Amino acid sequence: MSIRLKKRFGQHLLISPGVLEKIAEFAELKEDHIVVEIGPGTGLLTRVILKYPIKKLFLLELDPEMINYLKNNLKDERIVLIHADATVFNYNEVSERELKVVGNLPYNVASLIVENMVFHHSLIPFSLFLVQKEVAEKWLSGKSWLSLFIQTFYDLEYLMTVPPRFFKPKPKVDSALIRFRRNIKHKISSLSKYKEFLTLLYQHKRKMLRKKFSEEILQSVSISGAKRAEDLTLKEVFLLYESWLQTSLS
Ligand code: SAH
Repeated sequence: MSIRLKKRFGQHLLISPGVLEKIAEFAELKEDHIVVEIGPGTGLLTRVILKYPIKKLFLLELDPEMINYLKNNLKDERIVLIHADATVFNYNEVSERELKVVGNLPYNVASLIVENMVFHHSLIPFSLFLVQKEVAEKWLSGKSWLSLFIQTFYDLEYLMTVPPRFFKPKPKVDSALIRFRRNIKHKISSLSKYKEFLTLLYQHKRKMLRKKFSEEILQSVSISGAKRAEDLTLKEVFLLYESWLQTSLS
């Protein structure tokens, strides 16, 4: 059975057996692991993952045609197919135990998928994603709201670059494999408040901090109002957040 690949679902299948093996290796799959694969497509990566003795594999796929295809072509007692949108998926629905999340992500929504994963970080100690190289570099940069959001809870590792020729159809750009290991650097009580703060910090990011935060807030943490978002260390970001939170709650 052949399947039509759809652009709107960001369907670029990774067809290189060598790269698929590498991804599974980097996922460090062990016997008692419960794994979630995002965007399994026709199951090319899924089949390689299933060679490992994992306990369970949830497959999150948005395209109903792919779901049907997988239902008919992939038989393994450990898999559970879920027709869902990974940008808004509630991981608590599938397990109370910790999950490993992996996937060759749909590039158009990769950032939304990762943002949603960060919201569920208490359940997800480890993840591994193939994304557009430029996007991976941005996450690593520490210079965007999402990059800070990610790095507050995870350490990132750039594992390898995957050129377009390994996909079908070929994407226009290079891809990168990136690994997330949970390492919580600051205790955050409200993730949505924290997101609100980071997006404020990075709105018009060339603007000086004094245009966004009161002199009182800045002085209380000894950060110069002439600085810009990108000048702050992660430590300073946390300090500023705590101070902003006080005033935003009072
Ligand atoms: N992992 C496969 C296919 C990757 S392409 C492989 O390596 O061959 C990306 C996949 O994500 C497609 O199957 C696409 O249908 C699916 N997808 C797109 N948007 C999604 C979303 N919001 N949630 C879950 N899956 C999605």
